[in-house]
Amino acid sequence: MRIGIDLGGTKIEGIVMDDAGRERVRRRVPTPKGDYRATVEAIALLVAALEPGSASRATVGVGIPGAISRVSGLVKNANSTCLIGQPLQGDLEAALGRPVRLANDANCFALSEAIDGAGRGARVVFGVILGTGVGGGIVVDGRVLEGANAIAGEWGHNPLPLPSGDDLPLRPCYCGRAGCIETYLCGPALEHEGGAASESAIARYEARLARALAGVVNLLDPDVIVLGGGVSNVDRLYANVPRLWRAHVFSDHVATRLAKHAHGDSSGVRGAAWLWGGPPGP
Ligand SMILES: [Zn+2]
Repeated sequence: MRIGIDLGGTKIEGIVMDDAGRERVRRRVPTPKGDYRATVEAIALLVAALEPGSASRATVGVGIPGAISRVSGLVKNANSTCLIGQPLQGDLEAALGRPVRLANDANCFALSEAIDGAGRGARVVFGVILGTGVGGGIVVDGRVLEGANAIAGEWGHNPLPLPSGDDLPLRPCYCGRAGCIETYLCGPALEHEGGAASESAIARYEARLARALAGVVNLLDPDVIVLGGGVSNVDRLYANVPRLWRAHVFSDHVATRLAKHAHGDSSGVRGAAWLWGGPPGP
């Protein structure tokens, strides 16, 4: 059995999943606000409550908002700031008495969709979360690509390509830069411009998303790009964005598919559970 934990800003969700990807139990608890020690404790209590039995200990994977620094081993890039600079992996392993695998929540999303979701069967999957923020993750042959700096797929803080007209002046980002893709493609940015019901707002959004994803296609050339997060429920994106990205992809033909998530909000916990390996092969 595999336990997957999704550590979010408002709730901590956990599931028990079998080798076939069937969910056996699901529980959620509120995230202790701004309290690191209490957060570790809450995860430990949640795992204890989920544990299928004392005879066999489940593997535990945890999706976090952020990444583990390759230099310090501590959490970095987390928007839940009480986690930043903390030895979360060591503290969780001590609390749970077993090795724990941690990954960025966008990587968990990409892994879940690659293994048995919208990217199933594809070798290279780029998963994108278009939510409160914009995150991305890369999965190759069923495994998360972490990268030399543990930031592979962090495309939301690349600059928006070819900014012009309404894109200017470049928007300031919380990360300290200006013109980050996240500042144009996050859910609140779309809402601010009128939301998905506004033809002009959604058309601008599609053009920006197409330019930003064309850069991903040129660099990574994924088989499929899977969208998650609130904005991914806007159905017209899946027809319009691939039509628009052709102008920016350096190829005579673009075979990359743009697909809607299959597991929705559940991809966070499902991907965390899959951090210990996908289902057994045929
Ligand atoms: Zn930024």
